[in-house]
This record gives sequence, structure tokens and C-alpha cells, in this order.
Amino acid sequence: MEKKPFVTKEQLDQIVARYPTPFHLYDEKGIRENARLVRKAFAWNPGYKEYFAVKANANPAILQILKEEGCGCDCSSLTELMLSKACGITGEDIMFSSNDTPAEEFAYARKLGAIVNLDDITHIDFLEQNGGIPETISCRYNPGGVFEFGNGIMDNPGDAKYGMTTEQIFKAFRILQGKGAKKFGIHAFLASNTVSNDYYPTLAKRLFELAVELKEKTGADIRFINLSGGVGIPYRPDQEPNDILKIGEGVRQVYEEVLVPAGLGHVALYTEMGRFMMGPYGCLVTRAIHEKHTYKEYIGVDACAANLMRPAMYGAYHHITVMGKEGEPCDHKYDVTGSLCENNDKFAVDRMLPKIDMGDLLVIHDSGAHGFAMGYNYNGRLRSAEVLLREDGSTRLIRRAETPHDLFATLDVTGVQIPYEDVEG
Ligand SMILES: *Cc1c(COP(=O)(O)O)cnc(C)c1O
Repeated sequence: MEKKPFVTKEQLDQIVARYPTPFHLYDEKGIRENARLVRKAFAWNPGYKEYFAVKANANPAILQILKEEGCGCDCSSLTELMLSKACGITGEDIMFSSNDTPAEEFAYARKLGAIVNLDDITHIDFLEQNGGIPETISCRYNPGGVFEFGNGIMDNPGDAKYGMTTEQIFKAFRILQGKGAKKFGIHAFLASNTVSNDYYPTLAKRLFELAVELKEKTGADIRFINLSGGVGIPYRPDQEPNDILKIGEGVRQVYEEVLVPAGLGHVALYTEMGRFMMGPYGCLVTRAIHEKHTYKEYIGVDACAANLMRPAMYGAYHHITVMGKEGEPCDHKYDVTGSLCENNDKFAVDRMLPKIDMGDLLVIHDSGAHGFAMGYNYNGRLRSAEVLLREDGSTRLIRRAETPHDLFATLDVTGVQIPYEDVEG
């Protein structure tokens, strides 16, 4: 199977004439079409809402597009909450799914009227002292052990730091009821980047059964069930993409099977997808600036792991298209590297690609989620710009590239004079 960039060579040549590489480019059309498909998949559930995981892509222009498509925000830090508010997303359009939460963040989430999703039973008292216990509250569940779905695919919630045990969530509901909570939700995130139409339905069944038991044993009024994130994308060209309509239908079936007969046919479903909402609709545009022939063949590009960390951090595959050479044979084996003094700064290892010439534009696919957002400043590397490709083909700069001033701004306390004039002509 072929993986095609969402821009053509001709379009990209025009874009790079305006914005110097490297930069992340986002596809507004793709974002909107996918968001509409997600809504359609869960349209059978009247209360359905997608709370976009802000950590995946924290650009306000993106949050606003998703807001227009009916999404709220899933936040887990103070600044993510601030950004949501800045985009006019407040109140119960924010899900605060944090963990190891500082006091002031609970207080701010409560101030904004966000739905608080408690990661731990001990956070009940902590929240009570920092913002107070709201009427509507959610608890995060972790069943422990291994979680298996599809054809033997599994993940290890037992090793994950998140959520409450089965015993704890029952106890937490009772304590919260005692402290005045009236409307309840449950949440779980049990597997990451699942490329399987079975993850959500299997997770939903587990949570629905838990909801029925919680209702029976505690009498709690359960209003929503949050399937969180974890729906993956095909980073590799040979992977079969998830079919969100099938996923929605699979969840509907277990909803009818488990929740409706238990008198819970009014429960709203929420999701907190990040990767599925944005991953494929962003790419990192970079240029080949060096070739090196030593024990291996290297292509050095003008982006580095500071712009996209997943390959370096997880050994993750990101597809690469050499623009304008799509039809040429992939008969050269390259390591595609960035400039960090860190040997894992490689976007690809032993990748078969067409012959790359200096100046060629490379599109590194699927950087729309957990791409720019994971960026960092190691080696004093500056974070890139973000550019939005609009539906009419025009572009909009939605974040400028960092400058040395941004990097050194926090050194103001030292009184050291940075020689900006040396590099600013
Ligand atoms: C990271 C995260 C998400 C989004 O995960 P994706 O895999 O990007 O869909 C959702 N909810 C919470 C609480 C998260 O930490």
C-alpha cells in the first residue's frame, strides 16, 4: 500500500518559499472530515462527545477547528487548561484527566467548571481541600493484569501508573456520595495506539459491566462513560487503518447488550482521542542538507528529534516521502538523521528510499499528534513553526518558529548578555 502526503510537490514548493523548513504542516480538510466521521460513528448515542487530548497537539488554531466540529478538550495540566479557556472551551466541555495532580491545578479546573476525572482514591480528600468536590465527578479505572482484545493483541494496565483498582473505585464512589457528589462517570485507558477495530468495543464492554455493578452496589447515578484515547493510526504503509464507523457500531452493540437492559440506556459516551483525531493530518516538512558515506549511508536533514521525538524515543516508524520522487524505485538504503549529538536522533534507520539529492524536500508523515507537542530544546535546538493548510489551499502560520530570544528568555535572572546582534544581521 502507498502512503501519500496530503500536499503535492507543487503545493509544497510554494509553501516552503514562504516558510523556511523545518515546520509541521497540518491539513484542515483532513482534520474536519475525520472529526465528522467520528461524530457520525457515535451519533447513535445522544450525549456523545469527543474531548480532544490537548497533549497530542496544543495549538489553539487546532483546538478551535476541533471545537467547531463539536469537540471539547481533555486536559491534564495547568497550561492545557489555560489554553482551553483561551479557545473559549470551558465548563463541562473540559475533561480534566490528570494524574499526580498539583493542588493549584485541581483548583483551577474547578474554577473553570471542568469535569474532574480522579486518577486515585487519595485524590478525593486532596480535591476537597483544593477546589472542593463537585456534583459531577469521574473516576479512572485500572483493572490490572493484561488487557486483551482483537486477535490476541494486548497491553499491560497492571504495569500502568493510572487509575484505581476495582475495590478502590467502589469505595471511591461511596466516599464521593458521602461528600455530596451526585452524578458519576467512569474512565479507563487500557491500551495505546491500537490498530484494531476491537479495542473500543472490548474496553466498552468491560466499563459497561463495571457501570452496571457500580450502580447496583452503590446506587450511584452514572451519567457518562469515557473510553478515553488509544485508538491508533497506521504509521506503516502495510497497516490496515481503523474503521471508526465499525468501532462505533461495535460499541453500540455492547451498549445495547449490557447498558440498556440494566436501565442505563441514557448514559452518555465520551472519548478522549488525540492520535486518531490529529496524527495523520500533520507532517514534518524538512530538507536534506547533508549526505554522509561512512559505514552506512546517511542523509542529514534540517529537522531533528527536538521537532519529532517518537522515532528516537520509541523507535517508532514514521513514513517518509521524498517529494517529487514518489514514482522512483526505493533502491537506496539510508539512515535519515537530525543534528542532535545523540545517536538515536534518526527519523529512519535502514530505510529503502529513492536516491536523495541535497535540497530535496522530505515529508515525514503522521506528525499531527504527539509530534510538535513532544518537542524539546536539547542541544539548544529551537522548536519549529506550525503551518495550517486551509481547505481553500491557502496557508496560515499558526505558530512561529522559536528564536534564540525564546530559548534564552528564562536566563534573564542571570544578567548574562546574550550576543543576539551576532546572529541577527
Ligand atoms: C494521552 C491521553 C489521551 C490521548 O491518547 P491517544 O493515544 O493520543 O488517543 C487521552 N486521555 C488521556 C488521559 C491521555 O493521557
